[in-house]
Amino acid sequence: MGLLSGLGELGLKGLDGVDLYEDDSKTVKKEETPAPAASINTFDERECLFGKSHTCPVCYKEFKALTVRQSKIRPAGMDRDLRPRFKNFDPMKYDVILCPHCGYAALGRFFHTITPPQAKLVKEGISRNFRPVEDKEFITYEEAFLRYQLALGNAVVKKGRAGEKAYLCLKMAWILRGRREAIEAGTEKVAPEECATILEELEQDETELLTNALDGFLNARQNETFPICGMDESTLDYIIAVTAMTLKKYDLVNQMLNVLLVKSRLTPMMKDNCIDIKEELRKIKNDAQ
Ligand SMILES: [Zn+2]
Repeated sequence: MGLLSGLGELGLKGLDGVDLYEDDSKTVKKEETPAPAASINTFDERECLFGKSHTCPVCYKEFKALTVRQSKIRPAGMDRDLRPRFKNFDPMKYDVILCPHCGYAALGRFFHTITPPQAKLVKEGISRNFRPVEDKEFITYEEAFLRYQLALGNAVVKKGRAGEKAYLCLKMAWILRGRREAIEAGTEKVAPEECATILEELEQDETELLTNALDGFLNARQNETFPICGMDESTLDYIIAVTAMTLKKYDLVNQMLNVLLVKSRLTPMMKDNCIDIKEELRKIKNDAQ
């Protein structure tokens, strides 16, 4: 997967293959196969959404963005890397705000904080070629992923910080994991003969995004001040440790655990997970001997 492949359908093909952190030259390019998205669900996601008014800080036009009604969110636990899980539907699909007029897109946290020089860069790098998107009553995982890609494209064009890009990559990995789980649970229907291939591709793409997230977080940890994307140092170090474990970068895991386990600011759940990871590492080392 090119991290930004798919943006061609929004008129932004030129962004495909762009280098995320500039000094890091390992963006892997692969054509993405579009999967048939037919989501049949008795639960009506539209009832959980409303159109929230925004004024775009880039083109100054007004628009309404699909927004989740907080009262409709039903938490259902958390993955080890702090990805929140939910019953019925995944509110994270709606975390990117997209201006349908000019193509400026960002996570809600960053949407209104763009500086005038950055807005100029977005106008030149995104708006000039952007094809407006149609209004939707709700969006599928695939449509959500495209919005995240656009947000990442915007972050690159506006020369956003490594932390913001890394955080987007992490959330994109979570969106793909959410889609994979929805397919496995049967709430998102795909053609049976394509199911195995789609699941495998989603897993590979998730790994690629986690790799990019890890690179960016390590960069941000050195060069940015906390909080980074709302995360304090312990939380970011924890996410680095868990992600490195998923990616089998055991030296880095060890290094982060040594820092984390002497700190007291982890939540009890995070601390327990660190102890589990330390034990898993020990077993892996023993098995290797
Ligand atoms: Zn706009």
